[in-house]
Amino acid sequence: MVYLDHSATTPLDPEVLQAMMPYLTEEFGNASSVYGLGQRARQAIDQARDEVAAFYRVATKEIIFTSGGTEGDNFAVHGIARRNNDRGRHVITSTIEHDAVLRSAEALERDGFEVTRLGVDRFGLVDPDALRQALRPDTILVSIMHANNEIGTIEPIRELVAMTRDHSDAYFHTDAVQSTGKIPTTVEDLGVDLLSMSAHKLHGPKGVGCLVVRSGVRLEPQILGGGHERNRRAGTENVAGIVGLAKAVSIARRDLDTNTAYLTRLRDRLIAGVLDRIPRAGLTGHPRQRLPHHASFLFEGVEGESLLLQLDMDGIAASSGSACTSGSLEPSHVILALGYPRERAIGSLRLSLGKGNTDAEIDLVLERLPQMVARLRVMAPVSAA
Ligand code: PLP
Repeated sequence: MVYLDHSATTPLDPEVLQAMMPYLTEEFGNASSVYGLGQRARQAIDQARDEVAAFYRVATKEIIFTSGGTEGDNFAVHGIARRNNDRGRHVITSTIEHDAVLRSAEALERDGFEVTRLGVDRFGLVDPDALRQALRPDTILVSIMHANNEIGTIEPIRELVAMTRDHSDAYFHTDAVQSTGKIPTTVEDLGVDLLSMSAHKLHGPKGVGCLVVRSGVRLEPQILGGGHERNRRAGTENVAGIVGLAKAVSIARRDLDTNTAYLTRLRDRLIAGVLDRIPRAGLTGHPRQRLPHHASFLFEGVEGESLLLQLDMDGIAASSGSACTSGSLEPSHVILALGYPRERAIGSLRLSLGKGNTDAEIDLVLERLPQMVARLRVMAPVSAA
C-alpha cells in the first residue's frame, strides 16, 4: 500500500511504541496512587510534560493533556467563552476551521454569543486587516488555525496575533493540529494564548493531545471530576498516551530539518508532476506558504470520491475533502470558502506525505493518477450545473 493520507493520521513511530510499552504493561499504575507503582506513573507524566513544554517553549504548568485535537479545540472555545462572558460575548473565527472549532462556535451562538467568521482569499489566507475590522470591544476570543488540514495553507498567525493585541483584549487560540511537528510551532514565537494539538498527526498514538494555556488566561474547565491537570481537566491520566505524545514531539523536534527538506522535495515533485501531466488540474491552497508534506488539487470534470475509489483499487490511500452525505456529494466547506463553485469543489484530492514515503511511490502516483483522471472524465464526467 502507498499511504498518502498523513494529514488524516500517521503510523505510530516504533520509538514511540517502545517508550509507551512499559505503561501499557507492567507500569500500569494510576498516577494519583501514593505507592511506588502510582508514583512512577506520575513521574512519567511529569517528564512528558517537561518535554512538551520545552517543545512549545512554555512553562510546564501551561500544558493540559487532553484526548486530542477535537477536545482541545472544544475546550479552548467553550472554556474561554464560558469563563469570560462577563467581558463580552463576541467570538471571531474563520470559515476554514476544522469542524471542532466551527461546531463549537455554532453551539455558542445557540447560547446567545455572536460569532464572526472571517473569509479567506483564493489561497486560503485570512487577512489581518479583515480581522482588525471585525475586532470589537466585546470580542473575547479569536480562534484561527495555524495550518489548514485540507489545503495545507499556513496562516500568518504572528500578524493576526499582533493585530488582535493592538485592537482588543481578546484571547487568541490557534489549532496547531496540522502544523505541530511539520513546521516550527513554538508558542513563544507565535505569541498565542492557547494552542491545541493532537499526537496522532505526528506519529504518536491516537486519543491524546494537549492544550497549551498561557498563565493568567481565564479558562473554564469543561470536563469535571477529580483534581487532575491542576483542576482544569478531570479524568485519570492516559499515561502511555502522554508518554507517547512526548516522545513523538521530541522526535519531531530532533528530525524537523531533515524531514522538512525531504518532504518538501517529494511534495514539490508531486505537485509539479501532477500539474504537468494532468490537464485542467489546479493546486489548492497557497503555492509557497503551505505545509511541507501537503499537496492538494482540484481536477475539473471529476468527482474526488470516485478518484479515491480508483486510487484505493491500486493500493493508494488518499483523501478528498468532499463527503457523501445521504447519497449526494457535499463539497468541502474549505474548498467552497476559496470561492470555487460546487461542481468544481467536488473534484478535490489531498495527497499528504510522510517520512516513510519514497520517490518510487511518487513515481507510481504520477504514472497512475493521470490515467485515472482521464478515464473518469470519460466514464463519469461532472459538468457544470
Ligand atoms: N483540527 C484539525 C485541523 C485537524 O486536522 C483535526 C483532525 O483531523 C482535528 C482538529 C481533530 O483532531 P483529533 O483527531 O485529535 O480529534
